[in-house]
Amino acid sequence: MPNVIQVKSILNKTKRRDPWFLDDYTINAYSGCSFNCLYCYIRGSKYGIHMEEKLAIKENALELLDKQLFNRAKKGQYGIIVMSSATDPYLHFESEYRLTRQMLELILKYRFPVHIITKSDLVVRDIDLLQQINENAILPVDLTGKLLHKTLVTFSFSTVDDAIASIFEPGATPPSIRVETMRNIAATGLYTGVSMMPLLPYISDTAAHLDLMFKTFKEAAARYVFPATITLFGNGTADSKTLVLRAIEKHYPHLLDRYHQLFADATQLPAYYNNAFNAKASELCNKYDIPNRIF
Ligand code: SF4
Repeated sequence: MPNVIQVKSILNKTKRRDPWFLDDYTINAYSGCSFNCLYCYIRGSKYGIHMEEKLAIKENALELLDKQLFNRAKKGQYGIIVMSSATDPYLHFESEYRLTRQMLELILKYRFPVHIITKSDLVVRDIDLLQQINENAILPVDLTGKLLHKTLVTFSFSTVDDAIASIFEPGATPPSIRVETMRNIAATGLYTGVSMMPLLPYISDTAAHLDLMFKTFKEAAARYVFPATITLFGNGTADSKTLVLRAIEKHYPHLLDRYHQLFADATQLPAYYNNAFNAKASELCNKYDIPNRIF
């Protein structure tokens, strides 16, 4: 049973639109995330080690969203709404609470385009609404004619191996099911692709694993892939760097020294590593003919 909180705002305007996620606005229906990924960037003392314990539902979210969308629509301030940037819109108890679904109904009512980012198969429940949004939403003026879709559905993967995912994303839907869900979404005609991040050094960013990921995504009809390496923060007990290093020590002890070398004094991988990764990702985008952007 999640906690219940009241919030002052639910529709957040971003400072600038990210070229991958195209976020003009973000909505997070929940505070915290029960998927509990070890590498999650929202980790830290606020949510604790087991993030589902601090999970909270935003009780006044629908009332606020109705008001905020009304005001934005009245001023013609249409923009792509990303669900979600700091949680998953399809956490397990969404099937009971239906908060994301009710938010999509409001997004449809006010004709805003939407970009769903998820690790869950529950998104198929809302295909009817997502299709209606795709048909009826109004794009921001600068994207009209450039972007041909008003609903985007992106699935996040750090690996396509269920066993690896069970270590690093213990609460999320297994990647094999995510892949099938993406295939089903693509079959409906909705525009879908992959956020391929964060890749795990020497585990899911090897040449063989990257090739397998691209091959899998291509076969599941992904239309784009955003490939990126990992960033790890903090030395506290609930921080992502601490938790990932602990998992490496337990499950991949032969890699521990290499991880310490990479992350002892850093949050990001070194430039030489990122450059090699970007070159490999670019090669695979060409090989499998999948662009690394939506447009
Ligand atoms: S699904 Fe996303 S928000 Fe949730 S724990 Fe994983 S990385 Fe964090």
